[in-house]
Amino acid sequence: MMGTAEMTQPTTTQAESAPPPLEPLIYDLGAPGRTGVSLPKTDVPEAPLPDDLLRAELDLPEVSELDTVRHFVRLSQLNHSIDTGFYPLGSCTMKYNPKINEDMARLPGFALAHPLQDPSASQGALALMYTLQQWLAEISGMAGASLQPAAGAQGEFAGILMIRAYHLANGEPQRTKIIVPDSAHGTNPATTAMAGLQVVEIPSDANGDVDLDRLHEVCGDDVAGMMITVPNTLGVYETNIKQIVDVIHGCGGLMYMDGANMNAMLGVAKPADLGFDVMHYNLHKTFSTPHGGGGPGSGPVAATEKLLPFLPGPIVVVLEEGDGDAPPLYGLAMPEQSIGRLKAFWGNFGMLVRAFAYISTYGAQGLRDVTNHAVLNANYIRARLKGVYPMPFDRICGHEFVCEGHWKEAEGIHALDISKRLMDYGIHPPTNYFPLIVPEALLIEPTETESKEACDQFVEAMIKIAEEAKTSPELLHDAPHTTPVGRVDDVLAAKQLVLCCRVLPDYET
Ligand SMILES: *Cc1c(COP(=O)(O)O)cnc(C)c1O
Repeated sequence: MMGTAEMTQPTTTQAESAPPPLEPLIYDLGAPGRTGVSLPKTDVPEAPLPDDLLRAELDLPEVSELDTVRHFVRLSQLNHSIDTGFYPLGSCTMKYNPKINEDMARLPGFALAHPLQDPSASQGALALMYTLQQWLAEISGMAGASLQPAAGAQGEFAGILMIRAYHLANGEPQRTKIIVPDSAHGTNPATTAMAGLQVVEIPSDANGDVDLDRLHEVCGDDVAGMMITVPNTLGVYETNIKQIVDVIHGCGGLMYMDGANMNAMLGVAKPADLGFDVMHYNLHKTFSTPHGGGGPGSGPVAATEKLLPFLPGPIVVVLEEGDGDAPPLYGLAMPEQSIGRLKAFWGNFGMLVRAFAYISTYGAQGLRDVTNHAVLNANYIRARLKGVYPMPFDRICGHEFVCEGHWKEAEGIHALDISKRLMDYGIHPPTNYFPLIVPEALLIEPTETESKEACDQFVEAMIKIAEEAKTSPELLHDAPHTTPVGRVDDVLAAKQLVLCCRVLPDYET
């Protein structure tokens, strides 16, 4: 959370508020022979390194330990982070992850556990996984869960394969279509295609809900199921979710819930109660684990009774019930008609420990509060920005809402300019240009942990930027002004990624 004093009016030029210079680079700090380590005298005979491992042309800096520490700490301070400021990308990318979860994942008994250790020597890890399976089943209202998938997208893939396997087992191979709303995350159609099924896209109506008439039209005995995000990616709870579920079930299809937005449902509604048959969680979104930058994820799938036999495996099972003093004996087993393995060993175990720690520290009421506060914060900001930014859907939102970053009175201003200008106010940009069906989309998700003061500071920055867009648009066009790196060419930056802090001589922009 930002202190009031820290959010000052940004300056307009680079010179007035120069960020700490990137120079000198670590390459310039060294001197021949300077070293950062002092090793004891060797007490074994020296052996020459193999020639093919020595690269004489590598120009490595020779620096002291302190030079190295200062270099890397300085670099780390050039980044915006959730620990230093507001981050409206929310649970989707960077919600605040309580530090205790990190401590738990680093406990040597967990961090150093070897996946090939005999189950008899891994009972603690298996107990944790079993309990997490049970909790994820309970939170969703489903009958069971598998912790195998390594990401949300892989959870989707598992769920669609399970739906397909179910239809095949029932002698209905003709069910090859998956219905996906046009507001869906790109992974939904991609998953469907990877599973060898066909995507049937249906439009959203003017309220941001699935177009029910279209849904009726596409339903038939070739439909395997429907994949839908709740609340949907436009930030709203589907008004007719019960009817949608009934229409799909009515034609023999199954319902898949993309659970990436569970931050808006925990302890308040259970996907199984809404009629869903299978879903995934993004543990790295809802249940802690930093994942910006593509770190490891975890996308467990939960399913109702009829899909349990198809879960990816192995899953953790109780081999012998405990009694009084003796804990149960846990083991690993493959569900009967499992779609198979998706991941080496037992999933991304470190993520499982973090999620376990997160859920157990919050408890049932705490999880409900997470959702209540996340939804309250998003609606508070939405209400305060109403009338300042165009909003395609004027209705209560879930844990996020979408507005549009453009105005008739501010020609040439785009959502991207607003995002870049936010950086000058010490705020990370929100999701830009997604969902695809909203022009100049800004998808704003504050999350549950932000205080009212922090939400207010964000709103005030957004209001100021809306004024600037009309009175001094160049401030937005040239933004950011106060960051170590100014406006980058996003396309070039993606195509010609430079990961070295030293500009290479042959690199031309
Ligand atoms: C993030 C997200 C996904 C994909 O999850 P990954 O863990 O990134 O693979 C799918 N659907 C929605 C709605 C998401 O937000």
